Amino acid sequence: MRVYLFNNLNIGELMDVYEQETKLYKALMHPVRLAILDLLREGEECVCHMEAAFGYRQAYISQQLMVLKDAGLVEVRREGLNIYYRVAHPEIFGVMDAMRMLTGIRPTPPAAANVCTCPRCTGEHEVPLIKL
Ligand SMILES: [Zn+2]
Repeated sequence: MRVYLFNNLNIGELMDVYEQETKLYKALMHPVRLAILDLLREGEECVCHMEAAFGYRQAYISQQLMVLKDAGLVEVRREGLNIYYRVAHPEIFGVMDAMRMLTGIRPTPPAAANVCTCPRCTGEHEVPLIKL
């Protein structure tokens, strides 16, 4: 993600830029969405994996993923019956890590390997998963 420097913006153009930033912050402003992003730090995961990891219904997780996708923070890939999400811009982790310098706590998402039936957890995945 490139960062462009703009000079001589009028106030409307300036607020448009802040509006873009606000959209990203709003997408981050939810505990489950932060947890999902943390789960995606190492690379893509299928929705069923997130369901197993967090114990929430798939519909609820999909709802949160849509917010992240609409903000451009995650990308989606279908493979058979599985839907995989990955972080579109790993730079977002820098924002989350900066916030954690204020809270002093860095949470770790729960492991799902014991209860998850996704292709990765069951070792049935033939194609290597896309890593960051
Ligand atoms: Zn899994």
